[in-house]
Amino acid sequence: MAQPVLVWFRDDLRVGDNAALRAALDSGRPVLCFHVFDDASPEIRPLGGAARWWLHGALANLSDNLEKRGNRLHLFSGAAEELVPRVVAEADAAALYWNRRYGPEREIDARLKKRLRDDGLEVKSFPGRLVYEPGSVLNQSGGHYKVFTPFNRAAVAHDPPPEPLRAPRDLPRAPFPRALDDLSVTLNELALEPRTPDWAGGLRETWEADAAKRGEDGAHERLKAFVSRHLSGYARERDRPDFDATSRLSAHLRFGEITPRQAIHAALAARAADRVDAQDYDSFRAEIGWRDFSYQLLFTHGPLHTRNMNDQFDAMPWREDDAELHAWQRGRTGFPVVDAGMRQLWHQGFMHNRVRMIVASFLTKHLLIHWKAGEAWFWDTLVDADPANNPAGWQWVAGSGADAQPYYRIFNPMTQGEKFDPEGDYVRRWVPEIAGLPNRVIHRPWEAKPDALKAAGVVLGKNYPKPIVVHEDARKRALDAFETIKRR
Ligand SMILES: Cc1cc2nc3c(=O)[nH]c(=O)nc-3n(C[C@H](O)[C@H](O)[C@H](O)COP(=O)(O)OP(=O)(O)OC[C@H]3O[C@@H](n4cnc5c(N)ncnc54)[C@H](O)[C@@H]3O)c2cc1C
Repeated sequence: MAQPVLVWFRDDLRVGDNAALRAALDSGRPVLCFHVFDDASPEIRPLGGAARWWLHGALANLSDNLEKRGNRLHLFSGAAEELVPRVVAEADAAALYWNRRYGPEREIDARLKKRLRDDGLEVKSFPGRLVYEPGSVLNQSGGHYKVFTPFNRAAVAHDPPPEPLRAPRDLPRAPFPRALDDLSVTLNELALEPRTPDWAGGLRETWEADAAKRGEDGAHERLKAFVSRHLSGYARERDRPDFDATSRLSAHLRFGEITPRQAIHAALAARAADRVDAQDYDSFRAEIGWRDFSYQLLFTHGPLHTRNMNDQFDAMPWREDDAELHAWQRGRTGFPVVDAGMRQLWHQGFMHNRVRMIVASFLTKHLLIHWKAGEAWFWDTLVDADPANNPAGWQWVAGSGADAQPYYRIFNPMTQGEKFDPEGDYVRRWVPEIAGLPNRVIHRPWEAKPDALKAAGVVLGKNYPKPIVVHEDARKRALDAFETIKRR
């Protein structure tokens, strides 16, 4: 039997548009596919609970898709740097292929590549996670862009990106070495889904109810549905949390079940057929561009969740207040749009982008609590918790990021709610205890007249909290705090 090529699946849990898998097939050798669940290596940030839940579904679907092609996915758990050389040796591999990652895990990959190549193995890495590799969209002086708009303009000038690669139809399978039997684990043994207590009911209800489930097949269902139903009108409606107007592809992209190039090409096809206008296409393309931009930041700055990109913020007089942090986490701040967002997050493992900005601004500005506390909560509760997008999003809102929102911009949760949830539908869905309030006060219940509160069955401080801060006072406190770091 010919020596096999190994394909190490990481954040690329798909068979389509997978350059490493395609190269393995093209080698003409039998292929051995494996994934290492690694929360032991110091370079790897252990996944949060919701993302672990998602990963289970993504791996199950990848395993099915490989079996349909006559192959199998083998699973291991532990530090990749110890496990991968053992798999290589026991399988008597001719080559090892993988698709690239862009965070600190690159150090693991670089060390492994060197060590295995020194031992005579062919080791190759491929692009695939991003539209364009970091370093391929550079400014005129050959440096990385620090601001999104020129970055995106330059990226779009390279479009269209190469056509996505087709999924292989058959994948000749390499025998699994007996010596690895004791080392390999089953998906259930990874225990990625919660058991006692099983807190994932809301996630299942949200993500398993229709055809668009976790995994590559679900990702394509979701992309198809989005392009045919919601891409037209996206530019106008994407900011409305009360509408189902965005793609909800983020967790699929996070785990590499689908590539941004596949998403762009599906949108381009709709544009070419005149089913969407240029504004809607450009708007969607820009959001995909934000993802590449965040990954470029991760690539150039190193881990983004551990430190301020703008070190002026190292001196920020953050407050520590566990009670207020807890009220924010549980959606009990007394500000309806903030509470709606935090409850959506807890239930669905997802939150609309506009509301992510509002709740992040509320935590870092109204409560003056460190963005790291919010980022960590999102990391644990989002199914799409992403090592680039999550900390970049938080630092952008907090003001400490590369291309940050100006620090003095403090979202007003009432006017944001009124603008983007004008009928209060989003708030009524997630904060049912105030659903009976009229639209006029749904985003500011403390201004409701006593008879309106009574008619709606709302007793502030009893069945819905009074606001935990006074907006104007909190705003002033945040501005004063920013003044102190500005003077440094
Ligand atoms: C504080 C904060 C934290 C965030 N944390 C995450 C996170 O952990 N994971 C994550 O994927 N996104 C994160 N985002 C970005 C954004 O909110 C989500 O990508 C988006 O809401 C996902 O919904 P969608 O797939 O329907 O988006 P769509 O509007 O359909 O956009 C399509 C895709 O573009 C990408 N995208 C959209 N907006 C952004 C953005 N602002 N930055 C980077 N990529 C973007 C996503 O991959 C998304 O799936 C965060 C934003 C903020 C403000």
